[in-house]
Amino acid sequence: MLTTAVTGNAYDVALENFDTAADVLNLENDVREMIKYPERILTVTIPVRMDDGHIHRFEGHRVQHSMVRGPAKGGIRFHPQVTLDEVKALATWMTWKCAVVNIPFGGAKGGITCDPKRMSLGEIERMTRRYTSAILPLIGPERDIPAPDVYTNSQTMAWIMDTFSMTKGYPIPGVVTGKPISLGGSLGRSEATGRGVFYTIQSACEHLGIQLKEATVVVQGFGNAGSVAAQLLYEAGAKVIAVSDSTGCVYNQNGLKIPELIHMKGLVGHVRDFPESESITPEQLLALKCDILVPAALENTIRGDNARTLNARIVAEAANGPLTPAADRILEANDVFIIPDILCNAGGVTVSYFEWVQDEQHLFWDAQDVYNRLERVMRTSFKDVLRIHEERNVPMRIAANMLGIGRVAEAVRLRSIYP
Ligand code: GLU
Repeated sequence: MLTTAVTGNAYDVALENFDTAADVLNLENDVREMIKYPERILTVTIPVRMDDGHIHRFEGHRVQHSMVRGPAKGGIRFHPQVTLDEVKALATWMTWKCAVVNIPFGGAKGGITCDPKRMSLGEIERMTRRYTSAILPLIGPERDIPAPDVYTNSQTMAWIMDTFSMTKGYPIPGVVTGKPISLGGSLGRSEATGRGVFYTIQSACEHLGIQLKEATVVVQGFGNAGSVAAQLLYEAGAKVIAVSDSTGCVYNQNGLKIPELIHMKGLVGHVRDFPESESITPEQLLALKCDILVPAALENTIRGDNARTLNARIVAEAANGPLTPAADRILEANDVFIIPDILCNAGGVTVSYFEWVQDEQHLFWDAQDVYNRLERVMRTSFKDVLRIHEERNVPMRIAANMLGIGRVAEAVRLRSIYP
């Protein structure tokens, strides 16, 4: 893994960012006690019959951080570096993210520590189904709705939907989002995270007076979020000068041909060796002079030790938690404009919400309708966060957290305490 090593503890970052925003909000202690920590944590053993006949034990988690504003919502990650603390951090961020874009969900996340790149499709399917049955008591369209995340996709969601439905005895498409269209998925969901990232970058450029047509872009991580954001920025006339994935980094000062790069990655599985590009190191990639840097890999890739090398005007967090608080402080001092993750990448969960609504109503929207609604949500949320940033004179990350945490706090005050 070149660019995506997870170092440090993401949950410590999530707690520190919570406290910073809660302090500015002057949040009372009782409310902090009620909303800061996960409501429910489940760790499960997942025995799987591997292709060679032996049984391998995987460990998985589902963390429901909050159900204050609605059912818990959040993806499921399959990755070798999944830990319970990582899942707790990601679940926490989902709560504030759903509140920032004002959709009626709480936050959750799931994960299995595994290396799907070294597993067969059959092994991944059996692992997914056994995990689903292990977390079955927690999930459901009215309680907790999983979705794709790192190394999971619409096929994974189809298996979860099938396992859940077979157990209940009737089809329940609303138990997951990010499903294939033919099973009740929403048009526009698969590219929603990258599209949302693009809308927030457009808003940031308008705010800062940057012409997207003349902008240079660097993208760290070329999965679902990074590749779609790169494609839309390319279509808007920006020059994407460097891209990386876990196997390498490619660079061309005149701009990479993104549609061809996406095509090649689809065929061979990596961006390395792309024609008309030169190979650079992950450190060189982060240090490139550009207008917009899009970290779209994993947590903690930009930290106190490498943030000083950055030479970007905007950092658009397509990944969850790519910057540590130490990196935040350095970029803040250097006047870099950060579009924080819980705003920047909220397009995915926003269209997940649209999918859930369509499933509940059995009435489906066309793609343009989804895009228009998504654009409205992203632009409104950007403005809401920017207003707090300007009025309260706080960094964009704190402003986003204040908005999200403030909305959850308001809901918990109204619901008060049971019993
Ligand atoms: N995994 C995505 C995220 O981190 C989407 C979650 C969802 O759609 O529920 O926001």
